[in-house]
Amino acid sequence: MVQAVRTVISPGRYVQGKGAIHQLGDYLKHLGSTPLIVADDLVWGLVAHDVEVSLKAADLPLHREKFNGIPSAGEVDRLVGVIKQTNADIAIAIGGGSTIDAVKASGYLAGIRWANCPTVASTDAPCSALSVIYTETGEFEEYRFFPRNPDLVLVDSQIVANAPVSLLIAGVGDALATWLEARATRRSNSKTMAGGLPTLTGTALAELSWDVLWENALPAIDAVKDHLVTPAVEKVIEANTLLSGLGFESGGLAAAHAIHNGLTAVGATHGLAHGQKVNIGSVTQLVLEGAPTSDIRDFIEFTTRVGLPNTLTEVGLSADDTDSLRTIADAATVAGETIHSMPFEVHSDDVASALASIERFAVQVRRDAKLPDPVRYVAHH
Ligand SMILES: [Zn+2]
Repeated sequence: MVQAVRTVISPGRYVQGKGAIHQLGDYLKHLGSTPLIVADDLVWGLVAHDVEVSLKAADLPLHREKFNGIPSAGEVDRLVGVIKQTNADIAIAIGGGSTIDAVKASGYLAGIRWANCPTVASTDAPCSALSVIYTETGEFEEYRFFPRNPDLVLVDSQIVANAPVSLLIAGVGDALATWLEARATRRSNSKTMAGGLPTLTGTALAELSWDVLWENALPAIDAVKDHLVTPAVEKVIEANTLLSGLGFESGGLAAAHAIHNGLTAVGATHGLAHGQKVNIGSVTQLVLEGAPTSDIRDFIEFTTRVGLPNTLTEVGLSADDTDSLRTIADAATVAGETIHSMPFEVHSDDVASALASIERFAVQVRRDAKLPDPVRYVAHH
């Protein structure tokens, strides 16, 4: 039998700062000579001028392809075709997690290098060596794993601070889950998304992400409401993007992300950000763990202040909606899901009960803390 190893993986280079977009060409020219930029029209409208100037200064040609919105198998294959037609030797995603997931998967299939330029700090997508593929209608389909991470992740903090604050808030939700899941993976000594057992490094980065967010998320969110870049904003961008990115991949995923994936199976949650659904997964994981009540209370109070959902109401569900809760719980516990990295067995029934239980408890915690009652989410179709 092959002995299980411990491993940590990471992007080749991470760059973050105000105005970093102006250096995109300088970093890219060491990676390839024919870049293909993939961005949707909204993002391209914001960055086209700066990217053009930066690539020109580095003597790189500019070819931009429009991203169509969902990282589906079909969109990935289409981008592979564009990479081949344009003879690109490096693909660069500029945008959010969906654009990034599509570009990583297509760069890998086309056999070229890939780089990411996230314009929001809303997910763990930028640094990892995997993509999440969705159906055309937005349901979780599969994880695709690649033998290497992006060669470059470049984040312009001012661009992130210019984006709607809701995206930074969603990123905090995704990043808070990282420590809860890495802690569970360490306890169970399960394999991580990096393909081995967790290292001290991966687990420590996940915990650092948690500490940075508890300390800085609230002032950073206030600053970004005014599109300001402060030291707290820089720390939260790094926690959401790099620390959580490395921490989830090399520290391990567990129940929170499996429950997120389950939530995507129900139409009522469609349109919510990844990090919003992950936060429901985090609360539910704490309940499943039988975590100390004071820890669950603190988590509900903090994430309410941050602006993340922690009740079923806020993700379009209710505790009486047993059919939907059953669908979510079944999807979250299918064979191969990361929920099986929890340090105890988890069955569909356990998840359905834990999910149903968070509504009444979270509402009470919020009332006790004089925080607002949840507002019902209604999905738009
Ligand atoms: Zn995530």
